[in-house]
Amino acid sequence: MKFIDLGLSGKTLKAIEACGYTQPTEVQEKTIPKIINGANLVVRSQTGTGKTAAFGIGLVERVISGSTSKALVLTPTRELAIQVCAEMQELGAKHGLRTCSAYGGQKITIQLRNLEKKYDILVATPGRLQDLCNRRRVDLSNFNMIVLDEADHMLDIGFQKEVLDILSRLPRKRVTLLFSATIDKQIEGIVSRYMPNSEFIEIGDQEIVSTINEEHIELSHADKVSTLHRILDSHRGVKTLIFMRTKHGVLKLKRKLEKRKIDGVGMLQGNMEQNKRNRVISGFKNGSISTVVATNVAARGLHIDKVGLIVNFDEAENKETHLHRVGRTGRMGAEGKVINLISYDEPRKPNHRNRKGRCRGSRSQKPPGGGRGPGHRQSPLGSPNSSGGRKQSPKYRGRRKR
Ligand code: AMP
Repeated sequence: MKFIDLGLSGKTLKAIEACGYTQPTEVQEKTIPKIINGANLVVRSQTGTGKTAAFGIGLVERVISGSTSKALVLTPTRELAIQVCAEMQELGAKHGLRTCSAYGGQKITIQLRNLEKKYDILVATPGRLQDLCNRRRVDLSNFNMIVLDEADHMLDIGFQKEVLDILSRLPRKRVTLLFSATIDKQIEGIVSRYMPNSEFIEIGDQEIVSTINEEHIELSHADKVSTLHRILDSHRGVKTLIFMRTKHGVLKLKRKLEKRKIDGVGMLQGNMEQNKRNRVISGFKNGSISTVVATNVAARGLHIDKVGLIVNFDEAENKETHLHRVGRTGRMGAEGKVINLISYDEPRKPNHRNRKGRCRGSRSQKPPGGGRGPGHRQSPLGSPNSSGGRKQSPKYRGRRKR
């Protein structure tokens, strides 16, 4: 199928060509015609399959036909808001559509100024949008289309109240689209309450894409850094993203890598100012930064071309987060590699924090089983830990209990 077969306007086809897309992806083929027709959709699709352009193209077509007056895209993170806004601007440029963004971490005065001029599409994070609504600077009753992007993550990081508030401020007669790589019970609750008569579209399995090769290395916690050095040495020239659990851990590891004179190391974590984060993202995109150490702030939605290696220095909290981290590589059918460092003697640390930093889990200093070493602890990925060596496994094998 070609884009022209989806019945798109000439200007949108030109914008798609300018983006360099020659053929629609599966999610685009299956959703764009339905979005244009005004369907409410719940779409589960693996990361990196072209979800943004799927809703972006549909949304632009609806706005230019006049069937949508104003459209809102909600994203969980600032980075994703910036990225989605850039893609919407590209897709709407030839029609003269104006897209604005509003997210935390940037001065609200800049955004207020932007919102004073007429615009067609608003891309926002829930907290900042709610703030703008409370200040009466955005009137959601004018928006008759909403896209909830990465909806599961939005709820995971504690935005449920804001999302429900935003949904309740929108007109009842509207188009609602929900996109996510994973759909869970919480999402189903929102769907049944706010999206009656919606259609579910599922693309592929809720699994890691087949072009990603995943390896597990079981080791002592003390050996993680030296093992990481060896991994980086053997992957020189490969764009690498290293995931850790805490902001503090990210900072420490970045310093260690710099001490060992590893060039082009950047970090992404929630305590950084937005402009610093943006600099790292653009450096990673243009290749001046080749290795980024990050918390899960980088796990969702970021499109960085040609990330060849993901190292899970600390394992993900759950299967969904693991899928999102892994989804930063192997995008659009490219080859990708994931290495999970699994330590058998790591103390359990609290890591289920809500947005305000309060810990939901219980603190335990000792590993299950009292830190007895290899062979005693269930591997985080579900396999018994005994070898201390390298294992091959194509999939993440299960949610871990904490
Ligand atoms: P997403 O799933 O929205 O995160 O998109 C993943 C990547 O695919 C982004 O870098 C897009 O620019 C790119 N992309 C989206 N649609 C297409 C297409 N039809 N052909 C080629 N690349 C695409």
